[in-house]
Amino acid sequence: MRTALRAVATKIIQTQLDQHVSALLRCRRCSRMKSTPVSGGPIVSDVMIVGQASGPREPVLQRPFAHTAGKTLFRWFEEYCGMNEVTVRSRIYFAAVCRCFPGKNSSGTDRVPAPDEIHNCSSWMDNEIRILQPRLIIPVGRLAIMQLIDCPKLDKVIGRNFRVERAGHRFDLIPLPHPSGASPWHKISPGCELTKRALKLIARHPAIAALSKRERRYSGLA
Ligand code: SF4
Repeated sequence: MRTALRAVATKIIQTQLDQHVSALLRCRRCSRMKSTPVSGGPIVSDVMIVGQASGPREPVLQRPFAHTAGKTLFRWFEEYCGMNEVTVRSRIYFAAVCRCFPGKNSSGTDRVPAPDEIHNCSSWMDNEIRILQPRLIIPVGRLAIMQLIDCPKLDKVIGRNFRVERAGHRFDLIPLPHPSGASPWHKISPGCELTKRALKLIARHPAIAALSKRERRYSGLA
């Protein structure tokens, strides 16, 4: 009986998330954005990863973390959580501060989204939290972390687990630094040690442990 109820609840959540992602992909609220929205798809999950904004490659490849930063992020998950890229993409919901590519600034680096664009996009994240009610959210990079907790410096928040409320739901939050090659923070002490500590916290979190256990079972290792 309990299994049947859970199956019905999951079906309802999947329908809501399908509709949400379909509406998100049609969003054109920000006229200065240089691409249409990018989504990782309607993955029903207890875990959400929140990125910053799409880069130039993501809209072409139609998936978040499609380029160099993604390579490092997925290597971290493989090393610490035993989940490869395919598993992470198929088991974890990907959100972001802004889903579109903001374009380049005059120095040739990716433009940081403006406050009005961040505000425009925040309702999508709120809705995702309401639908999924995640147990764990992993914001990646300072811009993403700042949308959920105070982040005066990365040293103060990386390597820690926070209890946070947003959109009427309480969840654990374990921040990660941005894995982009442009920022050396995670490679230099104390960033290196704090990043390892954060990844160990993520690997031990019950919501991630449940996902990686599923992965080991499917690959015949458990
Ligand atoms: S950044 Fe967000 S709010 Fe703005 S157009 Fe893209 S999806 Fe819509």
